Amino acid sequence: MSDNAPKKKGILQAYLNVNVLYKILIGLIVGAIAGVILAASGVTSLPAWISMFGTIFTRLLKMIIIPIIVGSLVVGASSVSPANVGKVGIRVIIIYLITSALGVIIGLLMANIFQPHADLAAVTELAAEAEGKIAETNVWQVIAEIVPTSVLSSLVNESVLQVIFFSLLFGICLSYLKASKDERLHTIATVTYNVFDCLTEVMMMIVRGIMQYAPIGVAVLICEVFAKNGAKVAGALVMVVVACFVGYAIHIILVYGGILKLGKIKISTFFKEARTPFITAFVTRSSNGTLPTSMTAAENLGIDKEVYAFSLPLGATINMDGTAIYQGVCTFFLVMSTFGRGLTIGEMSMIVLLATLASIGTAGVPGAGAIMLAMVMQGINLPIEAGSVLAGAYAMILGIDAILDMGRTALNVTGDLTCTTYVAKKLGFLREDSVLKQ
Ligand code: ASP
Repeated sequence: MSDNAPKKKGILQAYLNVNVLYKILIGLIVGAIAGVILAASGVTSLPAWISMFGTIFTRLLKMIIIPIIVGSLVVGASSVSPANVGKVGIRVIIIYLITSALGVIIGLLMANIFQPHADLAAVTELAAEAEGKIAETNVWQVIAEIVPTSVLSSLVNESVLQVIFFSLLFGICLSYLKASKDERLHTIATVTYNVFDCLTEVMMMIVRGIMQYAPIGVAVLICEVFAKNGAKVAGALVMVVVACFVGYAIHIILVYGGILKLGKIKISTFFKEARTPFITAFVTRSSNGTLPTSMTAAENLGIDKEVYAFSLPLGATINMDGTAIYQGVCTFFLVMSTFGRGLTIGEMSMIVLLATLASIGTAGVPGAGAIMLAMVMQGINLPIEAGSVLAGAYAMILGIDAILDMGRTALNVTGDLTCTTYVAKKLGFLREDSVLKQ
């Protein structure tokens, strides 16, 4: 037995050493092949003990949603010092929010054009059951109910919008207290900030752990989907990728092209510098990880440091246009695959609101957007319950998340740089030698 111990450790280490991206993709492929084989041999469901591994994965994801939202929003909002939210800050934040909302709209548009879906609904009774859960959404009431009557019950009931609202409020007030001249207030606020910062780091560590387990969870969930539905669902994933990437391209051309034109910024000059952060984001899938490269690009463009040193880290935290597009496409995919129908206008308006907020709450690390997708689904009253058809459809998205994440992160980072460049040019925060002046 003792002879085996080092070997066991070696296998675990070898597993951990492989990039999560590849492991999830392998999980998807293995699960799909196993599912197709099972379907061909007439087996349409897995034994309970195997299904359990998929159930554990969905439960882990649900477990982490609320803590992640609270942590990243409180820390994100309180990191912005009130002194910075002046003329520049307000403009940057507004443009960030508008471009993210446009991202969701483009995503939903792409979804309605390409109609990515896997026909899961046709073959399962679960879909009909779950359909009953969709509440008729009244947008005005939803907006009013963003304000919780009890903070604790919003946490316990996992009311995502209420939790977002209170976390942002808490974070903004905390940032004021942190900047207070009163020594006592400054000290206790800084301690509180550090506590939340630490809690968020812990949550991110848990997410990284869950992602190490994801390949197993995804393999089982995908296997169930393919066993029930056969190989025909694979084409649906290709459609999701196409819809997302066409959406990303349109966003760059229309939204970023438009902003640069409004700011009278030469597109070639901008992209000469933006190219490096774009590629770095594509390969690292992390806005935060790309920050140093984006800052260098801003420096090379001749933007004043006081602007980009504030707006780029803020953008890496709250501005996620690619993630917003992805949310639009994938919510459509999930609803259509599970319920065999598109989204209603009410649901789409809710998704624009939720996904814009979700992109604020999305951490700039690989795969964070997929966790937020689960949150958006919860927000439109369709929580991803273990064992449901929706969980199967969600696992399909997770299987290709790495590919989608590359494109959306590249867009997220380009968006931060575009908005920063525009505001700096408009308000004259450019160095004397700036290439943007030519
Ligand atoms: N990976 C993305 C980023 O870092 C976030 C996401 O998963 O959507 O910007």
